[in-house]
Amino acid sequence: MRKLNRVTVVGASLAGLRAVQALRREGFEGELTLIGAEAHTPYNRPPLSKSVLQGDDDVSLPGAEDLGEDWLRGRRAAGLDPIGKVVTMDDGSTVHYDGLVIATGARPRRLSDHPEGVHTLRTIEDSLAVRAELNTGRRRVVVIGGGFIGGEVASTAQALGHHVTLVAGAPYPMLAAFGTDTARWLAQHHQSNGVELVSGIRVVGFEGSPRVTEVRLSDGRSIPADLVVAGMGVTPNTEWLESSGLTLDDGVVCDANLYARGASDVVAAGDVVRWPHGLYGDSMVRVEHWSNANDQGASAALNLLAGPENAKPFADLPSFATHVHGARIQSAGLPHLADEATLVAGAFEEGRFAVGFAKNGVLVGAVAVDSPKDLIRLKRGIASGSSLGAVSA
Ligand SMILES: Cc1cc2nc3c(=O)[nH]c(=O)nc-3n(C[C@H](O)[C@H](O)[C@H](O)COP(=O)(O)OP(=O)(O)OC[C@H]3O[C@@H](n4cnc5c(N)ncnc54)[C@H](O)[C@@H]3O)c2cc1C
Repeated sequence: MRKLNRVTVVGASLAGLRAVQALRREGFEGELTLIGAEAHTPYNRPPLSKSVLQGDDDVSLPGAEDLGEDWLRGRRAAGLDPIGKVVTMDDGSTVHYDGLVIATGARPRRLSDHPEGVHTLRTIEDSLAVRAELNTGRRRVVVIGGGFIGGEVASTAQALGHHVTLVAGAPYPMLAAFGTDTARWLAQHHQSNGVELVSGIRVVGFEGSPRVTEVRLSDGRSIPADLVVAGMGVTPNTEWLESSGLTLDDGVVCDANLYARGASDVVAAGDVVRWPHGLYGDSMVRVEHWSNANDQGASAALNLLAGPENAKPFADLPSFATHVHGARIQSAGLPHLADEATLVAGAFEEGRFAVGFAKNGVLVGAVAVDSPKDLIRLKRGIASGSSLGAVSA
């Protein structure tokens, strides 16, 4: 372990919290500064599109309360000088470091103009605002985006009794992440649960001022809307690093050990990182999953303490779970890299199945619906580089 005296962590959410906890656990006794743009103690985002919308306020993250008050809350880092080892804050003040963890995550993409009633979903404030709207009588809810957040919001709003239209740019929701067969099943699952699906089309804007009345589509059609939730993907929060000289390309570009490319005292973790993943032939990936931020925060901090020579590559298997209209959908690995997908358990018609994804015959990903044991089997297969044939029971 090398000797560091001052470590600064920028971004006080899941990855930043786990970095701080790992540093303390490892016995780091120097000065530790955590900088977070949000006014809150770090909290859990997955409930924001699920239980919070249904009235449950629990977004606690274990260990967040132990941070105490000794950190820069509600404060934004505005610039970085990696040569002088200084973070410049939004008020012009400076924070010096000899080790830096970047964990500034990502924010939702927006169309240029959002009238009242159009929401994105990233923060607790966003979620409470959507909840308040869902609680004011039956509404025509339009959800933009067939990704997991869009699917969860559609499912939750439907369960709360609203009329829901889900607009997906791809022919089926989650097509890129799940492949054609599972995505087609998901489309039918939405429809059979009462969600109106409009797919293979882009949203180009909104009608209504000051409040939204319609969502305009690229083919000239419009969908009436009282409330719109846009889940159109995210943009990594790297603007504050633009003049730093660090390599930025859809995130902070890092090496396999999560060190920012070319830097020996800056690591990054969570949604903001793009790094070469050892399980996938060092393909550059950016992963927007809870477990990735959770594990990477700690790994990046430990690598920072270890120093570049003794750091360990981060090659954990990406995984996430989502609940849509009562079905538990789990994914592991990177199915989108595959050139082949095979049903390895269950049946689509039964709504209980598992699909293995392979590239050049080798397992690279898996999706399972209400089949957790099959997912575990497939995960083992991915981690050990099994062939698709070996897991097709
Ligand atoms: C609604 C929702 C539901 C989700 N559901 C799931 C799920 O079911 N399963 C799953 O696996 N994943 C889910 N995720 C994704 C998961 O929550 C993220 O992968 C995780 O939060 C990433 O953590 P992070 O710490 O990297 O970034 P973030 O959580 O984005 O945190 C980054 C923090 O840095 C702060 N920040 C940004 N810029 C600056 C700056 N310049 N200075 C100081 N602070 C700054 C931000 O304000 C923020 O607090 C969900 C996400 C959302 C939004």
